[in-house]
Amino acid sequence: MGKFIVLLVVVFLIVWLVRGGRPGRAAPPTPSAPPPPANASAVPDTIVACAHCGLHLPKADALPGRGGVFCGEAHRSAFEREHAPR
Ligand SMILES: [Zn+2]
Repeated sequence: MGKFIVLLVVVFLIVWLVRGGRPGRAAPPTPSAPPPPANASAVPDTIVACAHCGLHLPKADALPGRGGVFCGEAHRSAFEREHAPR
């Protein structure tokens, strides 16, 4: 009679697996993480161009100023001198 009980358990397991393991599991599995945003402004190492000489550099190293970003203090002051309001 032991074989019959084993067979019953195996059939029960197969039915349980085919049904998805849990009764009433209707929701599909959700993705673990949302896709990263495509917005480039959120990327820390965005490449920007110096408004004075056009040098490309990471935004983290750029100096923000009037009229754009700059590769250094000298170019920022030079640009602001050139574009200074009269
Ligand atoms: Zn520059």
